[in-house]
Amino acid sequence: MSGTLEALLNLQSVERQIVEVRRELEAKREAVAAHRRRIEDLQADLQTLNEAHKARQKEAAAVELELKAREEEVAKLRASLRTAKTNKDYAAILTRINTLKADNSKFEEEGLRLIQAAEDVQEQAKAVERQIAEAKEALAEVERNSAEEVARLESALAALQQKRDEAARGVPAEALSVFERIARKRDGDAMARIIVVGDKPPYQYVCSGCNMSIRAEHANALRTRDEIRLCDCCRRILYLEETMTSQKA
Ligand SMILES: [Zn+2]
Repeated sequence: MSGTLEALLNLQSVERQIVEVRRELEAKREAVAAHRRRIEDLQADLQTLNEAHKARQKEAAAVELELKAREEEVAKLRASLRTAKTNKDYAAILTRINTLKADNSKFEEEGLRLIQAAEDVQEQAKAVERQIAEAKEALAEVERNSAEEVARLESALAALQQKRDEAARGVPAEALSVFERIARKRDGDAMARIIVVGDKPPYQYVCSGCNMSIRAEHANALRTRDEIRLCDCCRRILYLEETMTSQKA
């Protein structure tokens, strides 16, 4: 018997190969995309670090400027010590100088801390730059390796799609549209074999797609008729192996 169900089984076998090749292609593309995402993430990290570096440098420069102004003030006050008219004035200027000098050492510390922080951030940025260079090399390698494989898969896919179109031509339009609807939903897995359980009647019937039991009516109909019957549970197209000529051969 060579009929609609037979033609659909043939179609499904091609559909499954197409799904498999598409998955492989997708995996190849995903591997390349994952490398690209890693590089983008690292570049974003690098930008953040470069901005932080600039900010610390700016802060350090501001502190240095402030320190310079204060040191100039100390120098001016020292000069004015010589012209102090009274002991009281002299003491007051001296106190002011000492207070400024105590504060200035705090400013010096803060300046050094900021310079160190800027250097630390710069080191981190250099490490990320090295990681980016490595990631770019890894991407180039993956692209080289996968280019050939992708080309092979794409030509296999084109051949399968042609084979699929040929296989679809052997299927009546209505059956084809049912098949395609289910195949879309189930990644090409639109058909389910009826498993016959028991060695004498009354047999039990089970759907190979969802493993649920099937009404005997479906199996009985398919023994004599080439028609579309869907599993009551998973809605796949049912077939009986015993009625398939290609399976017997
Ligand atoms: Zn089922």
